[in-house]
Amino acid sequence: MTLARSGPLPDEVPADRNGAFGALAGDDAGRVTPMMEQYLEIKAANPDCLLFYRMGDFYELFFTDAEVASRALGIVLTKRGKHLGRDIPMCGVPVERSDEYLHRLIALGHRVAVCEQLEDPAEAKKRGGKSVVRRDVVRLVTAGTLTEDTLLDARRNNYLLAIARARASSAESGSQFALAFLDISTGEFRVTECDSAALGAEIARLEPGEIIVSDALFGDPELAPYWRSLPAVMPLARDVFDGATAERRLAAYFAVTTTEGFGTFSRLELTAAAACITYVERTQIGRKPPLSPPSREAPGSTLIIDAATRANLELARTLAGERRGSLLSVIDRTVTAAGSRLLAQRLSAPLTDPESIGRRHDAVEALLMDAAARADLRARLAAAPDLARALARLAVGRGGPRDLAAIRDGLTAGADIAARLAGLAQPPAEIMEAASALRDPDPALAAELAAALAEELPAFKRDGGFVRAGYDAALDEARALRDESRRVVAALQARYAETTGVRALKIRHNNVLGYFVEVTAQHGEKLLGPPHNGVFIHRQTLAGQVRFTTTELADLEAKIASAADRALAIELDRFERLTALVTAAGAGIKRAAEALAVLDVTAGVAALAVDHDYVRPEVTQTLELIVEGGRHPVVEQALRGGGPFIANDCDLSPPSNAVCGRIWIVTGPNMAGKSTFLRQNALIAILAQMGSFVPARRARIGIVDRLFSRVGAADDLARGRSTFMVEMVETAAILNQAGPRSLVILDEIGRGTATFDGLSIAWAAIEHLHESNRCRALFATHFHELTALAAKLPRLFNATVRVKEWQGEVVFLHEVVPGAADRSYGIQVAKLAGLPAAVIERAKIVLAEIEAEDRTSPARRLIDDLPLFSAAARAPAAPREDPAHAALLKAIAVLNPDEMSPREALEALYALKLKAAQKDG
Ligand code: ADP
Ligand code: MG
Repeated sequence: MTLARSGPLPDEVPADRNGAFGALAGDDAGRVTPMMEQYLEIKAANPDCLLFYRMGDFYELFFTDAEVASRALGIVLTKRGKHLGRDIPMCGVPVERSDEYLHRLIALGHRVAVCEQLEDPAEAKKRGGKSVVRRDVVRLVTAGTLTEDTLLDARRNNYLLAIARARASSAESGSQFALAFLDISTGEFRVTECDSAALGAEIARLEPGEIIVSDALFGDPELAPYWRSLPAVMPLARDVFDGATAERRLAAYFAVTTTEGFGTFSRLELTAAAACITYVERTQIGRKPPLSPPSREAPGSTLIIDAATRANLELARTLAGERRGSLLSVIDRTVTAAGSRLLAQRLSAPLTDPESIGRRHDAVEALLMDAAARADLRARLAAAPDLARALARLAVGRGGPRDLAAIRDGLTAGADIAARLAGLAQPPAEIMEAASALRDPDPALAAELAAALAEELPAFKRDGGFVRAGYDAALDEARALRDESRRVVAALQARYAETTGVRALKIRHNNVLGYFVEVTAQHGEKLLGPPHNGVFIHRQTLAGQVRFTTTELADLEAKIASAADRALAIELDRFERLTALVTAAGAGIKRAAEALAVLDVTAGVAALAVDHDYVRPEVTQTLELIVEGGRHPVVEQALRGGGPFIANDCDLSPPSNAVCGRIWIVTGPNMAGKSTFLRQNALIAILAQMGSFVPARRARIGIVDRLFSRVGAADDLARGRSTFMVEMVETAAILNQAGPRSLVILDEIGRGTATFDGLSIAWAAIEHLHESNRCRALFATHFHELTALAAKLPRLFNATVRVKEWQGEVVFLHEVVPGAADRSYGIQVAKLAGLPAAVIERAKIVLAEIEAEDRTSPARRLIDDLPLFSAAARAPAAPREDPAHAALLKAIAVLNPDEMSPREALEALYALKLKAAQKDG
C-alpha cells in the first residue's frame, strides 16, 4: 500500500509527507514553533504512552516514539525538520488502518495515547495564519481497556485487574489482597479478596490483559520479581488506590449516593474497585463504558487452581500455548462468542458449592433430554450477534451502524428464544431466569432499530447510507437533492460532449480537484482554443489527459456537496439518537446478553454430553471421589479413528472408618497410560464442578477446594522450561498448602535427579501427604519401591497399569488395576522406540547384574522403620558419602596384581593399610 495522502490536507501539513516540515519543526536556532509546542505539551502529559498525533489522514509519531514504533511495526523511519538543532525522527500510520498497528503495539506491551484534531483546520486558519489546529488526547489505548473487535479475541474476556493490598497486621497473618476486575468490552465488574498464597492462582484464573497496582505495591521487594514475570503490569500513583476516596469515586461513576446497594464490600475491595473505575475514566477520557455495578465473589466460592496446574492440565491452552488440544477446545460446543467466553470463564473458575453446581447440571439435563428444543435453541443462538461488545462500543462512542444492527438482531433473537423456552416442560431455574432476562428489554427498541437501519450497512457511520429510506423525511429530501444533482452532472457531460464534438469527454471526481471535465491529450488543444476556451477553464495537464472546469460545473458541485453533507449530518444525528436509546436500555441489554451466553453454554454442554456419552456427576459435600469408567476428554477425542480409549475406575474416597481420602500410587512402565489416568480424574473433577457433565459411566465427586498438579522435571526439561529446582519449589508449595479437601496430582515427582535422591524425595513426600496434608492424591511413579509403603500407610492404595509381555515385546493394555508393577519394562519400551539391537542386548545384561545386587534394597528396611506420626516433624539426616572410603576403593581399583612383583605387592599392601588407618583416625 502507498502512504501517499489523498484528499484535501490541512494547511499545516505538507501535501507530501516527505517534503519539508516547516510547521512542526523549529529551526537551528532552537526556536520552537506553536505546533511543536502543542506536541511537546501533549506528549509531556502522556509520558508513558506512545503518542499517535493526528495530522490529516495519518497518525504521526515523533522522536523516541517514532524510533520505538518504526522498529516494532517495521515501518519506515524518516526525518522531519529540526528541534533544538537536531533532526526529528518521525514515522506514521494511516488512520484508516490504525487498528492493525494499534493491535501490534498493544500486543508488544505498549500503551498508545490517541491524539485527535478537535476542529476543522479551516477553523484554526480563521484565528490567524499561525494558529495550530486544536488537538487533544481522546483515549489511551491499553491492553486492559480495549473495545474494538479487531483488537480483541471474540472468545475470550479481556480483564483489567486492580490489586490492592492490606499489609499484614502481624508477622504470621500475611498480607491480604483485594482484586477488582472488569471487562470494559462486556461490562462485567467483580471484586474478591484472597491471601498471598492464593494471589498467583487468582491472577492465573483471570489472565488479565492488564494489571494495575500502586507504586508502593509495584516496588515491593518481595513481589517485584513476580510483577516482572507478568505481562502488562502498570504502577500508578497513590491517589488511584486511595482508600479514603474510594467509595465516593465508585458511587460517582454509577451516579448513586452510596455503594451499599451493590452489596457489602470491605474497604480493601472498595479501594481496588475504585482504582479500576479511575483507570477506566483516565483511559476513556469522558466516555463511560456500560459497566455493571461491582459484584462480590465470596472467597472460597471457586476452586483454586494455580498457574502451574492450569498449564499442566492444559485447561485453556496446551503446554505449547495453543487453544487446539486444550480441554477448552474439546468441550467448546458453543455457537456464539459470548457463550465461548462464558464457557472459558466457568472452566477457569469451577464452583465449590454443590447447590449452585446442581443448578447448572439441572439446566444441562433439561436440554439434554429435549433434543428438538436443544437443536432449535442452538440454531437461533447461532444467529445472535455479540450484544455485550456491540453495546460497549456504542457506549464509548466507537460504535458503528453494524453495532446498532447487532443490538437489533440480538434482542430479536432473544425475544424469539424466550418464547420458545416457554414451551419447555418443567424448565429448571437457570433456564427460567435466562428466559425472563430475555423478555425484559422493551421490544420497541428492536422495532425502532429495525425501522431505522437499511438492509446493507457500511462499516463506519462516516460512510453514511445506513438509515433506511422512508425513516426520516428531511434525510430523504437531502438525498433526493444529492442524487438529482448527480443526474444533472450526467446530463451536463452529455451536453459538453455534444457541443465540443469530443465523444470521449468525461466528468470525473477526485478529492483534490473535486469535479472536473477530462479529455484525452489529443482533444485538449481543441478545448484550449476558441470558442470552447470561453466555457472550459484549464486546471491540469497530465501525460495522457487534460482537465478543465466550468462555472456551471463548479456551481453544481457546491450544490451536490451541500446536499450530501446535509444528508450525512442527518444520518449522524440519527445515529446518535439511536445510540442514546440503546445505551439508555443498556442494563437490560446486558442481562439479555448474559442470558444468551448462559443458554449457549448450557446447550453446548448438553450437545457435548450427547455426542460423547458424558454423564451427570453427583457432586456432594463429602470427601469422596469415585469415577467409574472414566475417560480422558482430550485423549479420547484425539484417539478417534485410532484405537479405543480404555475407560478406568478411580476411587479416592476415605476407606471405611477413615476420615480422610485416599492416595493412589500408580505404577507401570512408560507409555502405559499413567499420566493420562491421573489427569483424567483431575479433569473430571473440574468438569463436574464447573457444571458440565463428565466423560465417565458414573462419577461422584465430593467438592474439591484446591487442585494441584505437578509433573516431574524430566518431562519439563524436554521443553526447556523447567529444572529440578522448579519441580521441588512446586512440590514444596503443595506440601505446604494442600488440605483435606484438596486434590493433588503428582506425576513422576523426583525423576529429575539421581535415582536414590529421587526415590527418597518421593518417599518422604508421600508420607507427608498421607500424614500431614491428608488430602486425596494420585501419585504416578516409576519407583516401584514406593508400592511397599501401602503396607504401613492405611489410606494408601496401589494401582498399576497393565501391560502384557508377548514374545519379548510389551503390549500396553491401558487398564488400571489394583496392585503394583513388578518392573519398569524400560528396555522393552526402548526397543519399541527403535534403539539398536546391540544396545538393547547390552542393557539387558547390565540390568540383570544390577538387579542381582539390589536384592538388599534399602526400601525393605525403611518399611519397618516408618516415622508414622512424625513425618512432618522429623527431618532425618541425609546419608552422606564418605570421601576417605571412596579414596581407599579407588586406590584398590588401580592395582593390577598380575603385573606386580611380590615386593611391589607388599608395598601396596602397606600403603593401603596406612590409608585405612588415616581414615579411621
Ligand atoms: P505414561 O505416563 O504411563 O508414560 P501416558 O499417560 O503418557 O503414559 O500415555 C501414553 C499414551 O498412551 C497416550 O498418549 C495415549 O495415546 C495412550 N493412552 C493412555 N491411556 C490410554 C487409555 N486409557 N486408552 C487408550 N490409550 C491410552
Ligand atoms: Mg507419564
